[in-house]
Amino acid sequence: MDSIERNRQRIMQKLGPTQLVVVSKYRSLNEIQQTYDAGQRVFAENRVQALMERYSLLPPDIQWHLIGHLQTNKVKYIAPFIAMIHSVDSLKLLQEIDRQAEKNNRIIPCLLQIYVATEDTKFGLDENELHLLLQNGDWKNLSHVRICGIMAMASLTEDKVQIHQEFENAHRIFLNSKSRYFQNDENFRELSIGMSSDYEIALEHGSTMVRIGSKIFESD
Ligand SMILES: *Cc1c(COP(=O)(O)O)cnc(C)c1O
Repeated sequence: MDSIERNRQRIMQKLGPTQLVVVSKYRSLNEIQQTYDAGQRVFAENRVQALMERYSLLPPDIQWHLIGHLQTNKVKYIAPFIAMIHSVDSLKLLQEIDRQAEKNNRIIPCLLQIYVATEDTKFGLDENELHLLLQNGDWKNLSHVRICGIMAMASLTEDKVQIHQEFENAHRIFLNSKSRYFQNDENFRELSIGMSSDYEIALEHGSTMVRIGSKIFESD
């Protein structure tokens, strides 16, 4: 067994029903192919350009997720194939995704990215902005996007207590949004939290999807 396969097995054992999204940004095509050969089908990139290249060169049954900031003028490039967009942070972006999805005869699953970290370098809606977007109801008219849940990132810190607090906060916001706006919508069920350094903490706070790169590709 190579180290990618071993790392993946080790992580999967801890996940239970939580889905593993392998973050392949900066990795070679060969490394991604190795992960694919070990059975992985869901991969994520943070840049549109990289997504397009990799989509065209790697096996067609890979489900590609976007986890990085998305500009409205680039939606058209990924709309034909993207399996999920984790980084939706405005109604305007959601409307453009809807428009491009319709052109491609698709419904694109999306997550709303919220901001729970204390750093100001990260993208996302704060709690108030999230509620404004959802209360405003315009999203209900978008028949080619499906809002499937929430994505968040914790601060890059060694302070475990802080990471626990931030993920707990993300979980609370997820549950609150579910009950206020998506009570009868079974599609709203994903909480995308947890990366290599903090996924074990995220699992304690209701993570349904972890996004893991380095722990898969780097041998320890
Ligand atoms: C890079 C990245 C990850 C994965 O980070 P690792 O530390 O390599 O696991 C997860 N989520 C987002 C949004 C990222 O940009």
